[in-house]
Amino acid sequence: MSVLRFLIPVLCLPAVLAGGPANALSAHEHGVASLNVALQGNSLAIELLSPAASIAGFEHLPATAAERQQLQQQREVLDGPLALFAPPAAAQCQVMARSIESELFADTAVAAASDDHDHDHDHDHDHEAGGHRDIRAAYSLHCARPAGLSWLDLSGLFRQFPDLQRLDVQIVGPNGQQGQTLTPASSRIAF
Ligand SMILES: [Zn+2]
Repeated sequence: MSVLRFLIPVLCLPAVLAGGPANALSAHEHGVASLNVALQGNSLAIELLSPAASIAGFEHLPATAAERQQLQQQREVLDGPLALFAPPAAAQCQVMARSIESELFADTAVAAASDDHDHDHDHDHDHEAGGHRDIRAAYSLHCARPAGLSWLDLSGLFRQFPDLQRLDVQIVGPNGQQGQTLTPASSRIAF
């Protein structure tokens, strides 16, 4: 089932956003994530960059069945962007493609594929960047009536991931480029 992941084409955000994500991500502050949103014509691109801790609850490679199951559940939540970044129904948005990437999810796939490798690792393999890992989720939506896209409601995102306390948003849309900061108490992006 996880093989499907490799068939999904890598999403390309507009070049105007290039450079921003890496800078934002390098901060890696737990509880804080960054979001890039670009609306061009009928196309709505959304890219979420977050410390894994804010999404999965931990950042080490999953070591137990319970942790792998938790990751799988969070991954399935990330697979449904319309519930996380809810556009107005009037905009008639559909998900065209999605890409969920993390070292944590890669390990989930490997672990599921190799049943004979089930002995426990007692020592810690967190040797990259002091044990910190990130999750990147990118989506491409087609909105039949982009004129109806006056906002995105992210209350579902904050509800699903309660460890997420702040979202730094960069928006490129009909009104140019702008930044917004969202919190659980203020979770709506205005275009
Ligand atoms: Zn971290």
